[in-house]
Amino acid sequence: MNFGIEDSAEQGAFRDEVRAFLATAVPDNLEHAIDPVDMSYEQYQIRRALGRKLGAKGWLYPSMPVEYGGGDLSAEKVVILHDELSRVGLALPPYYDSGGKMAAPTILVWGTDEHKKRFLPPICRGEVRTWQLLSEPSAGSDLAGVKTTAVRDGDVYRVNGQKIFVGSSHGADYSWTIVVTDPKGERHKNLSWLMIPMNLPGITVQPMDLLATGGEAGSGSGVKNAVFFDDVRVPADHLVGGENNGWKVATTHLEVEHGGTGRLADRRVIYDFIEMCRDRRDGYAICDDAGARAEIVDLYIEAEITRLFALRNHWLAHTGQPRSYEGAQYSLRRKLSGLDMAEKMLRIAGPCVLTKDEKWGPLKGAIEYFQRDAITALHPGATTDIQKVVISRRLGIGGREKEKAGTLR
Ligand SMILES: Cc1cc2nc3c(=O)[nH]c(=O)nc-3n(C[C@H](O)[C@H](O)[C@H](O)COP(=O)(O)OP(=O)(O)OC[C@H]3O[C@@H](n4cnc5c(N)ncnc54)[C@H](O)[C@@H]3O)c2cc1C
Repeated sequence: MNFGIEDSAEQGAFRDEVRAFLATAVPDNLEHAIDPVDMSYEQYQIRRALGRKLGAKGWLYPSMPVEYGGGDLSAEKVVILHDELSRVGLALPPYYDSGGKMAAPTILVWGTDEHKKRFLPPICRGEVRTWQLLSEPSAGSDLAGVKTTAVRDGDVYRVNGQKIFVGSSHGADYSWTIVVTDPKGERHKNLSWLMIPMNLPGITVQPMDLLATGGEAGSGSGVKNAVFFDDVRVPADHLVGGENNGWKVATTHLEVEHGGTGRLADRRVIYDFIEMCRDRRDGYAICDDAGARAEIVDLYIEAEITRLFALRNHWLAHTGQPRSYEGAQYSLRRKLSGLDMAEKMLRIAGPCVLTKDEKWGPLKGAIEYFQRDAITALHPGATTDIQKVVISRRLGIGGREKEKAGTLR
């Protein structure tokens, strides 16, 4: 009996089209750095070029409207695109870009027509790359407590402050952030949302050295940075969603970042690890051991359940279904299961998973990176504690009214 999910004729034809496209569009000299921090500028540019080719077909941000450079594809076709990119070791987009993933859906909901026409097409076509600059030294979980200010001065805002744990390697064209525009205003009603061109004078980017920096195959962010704004003059019409309305604007990208639209790039490394356990060396394979086999099955189940949560959220968001706690539920699950799977790999294969040594490190160091990344991944996009806070609020636990899920198109 075949329990596999088969493509319909239309889906199969689309899969063939994507596969044929990738066969010619992905160059032979594409390399995969295990740790995103090691991705060279040249390899980054190769990914940007591929992004522009995907963008020309509306496939870089396939859920965005066609009029703004997206593909407006069905939920299923978007899954197929991700599947096929994953087969060649890439994610969508094939480089770190919080612009299309989070800023574009936000501008779509909160921007004026002028904002949409100006900002969205270059993002969707892959012509610009943007960073998300939210966290500050004293405002991570308490994001509404940001201190960076933007003071109106004629036709510009003068921005001063500092962000931390942000961005990626190899620079960005734009960054987006929330800033205090009414220092005396009530909490949550004192903030605004700004798109900031990164070539403006007064911006300093200072790389940080972290245990790991997260991301999917081919889309890892690489170096995280502290970013300083020293009297940066940002055009006033780059403020999206109205002055002091920034917290409402943020509900859209926070919903996306907290898992509300799922995350379709699979953790391919888990499946590669399971294959590795079948490899026979000197007559022995890890899966010969009954205890290891039981752990491998648990590992597979963990990965599949997490993948299915992501698929469910993609479907909920894509088909306009009611949403509540599901984003935070998936994000919490993904973070905790990542840590759990890292521990399982350590038990299954032993301490070799802690090294990237050429001879002893499994999968050229990919498992060693997974061990580091599973720990740091508990933090970005809201910590596990904050995901529990969000779930409680959405369910109305603690006497509160049920909080609504963030606004999506
Ligand atoms: C690898 C990495 C990548 C990142 N990328 C980005 C990025 O691209 N852009 C960006 O803006 N930021 C980024 N961040 C920052 C990230 O969003 C913050 O680290 C995160 O929001 C937590 O903030 P914090 O580090 O200031 O910890 P804090 O907020 O100070 O929290 C410290 C501890 O207290 C707990 N805690 C805090 N408040 C509560 C509460 N109300 N209830 C229960 N427990 C609580 C937290 O869970 C945590 O364990 C990144 C961080 C890392 C590690």
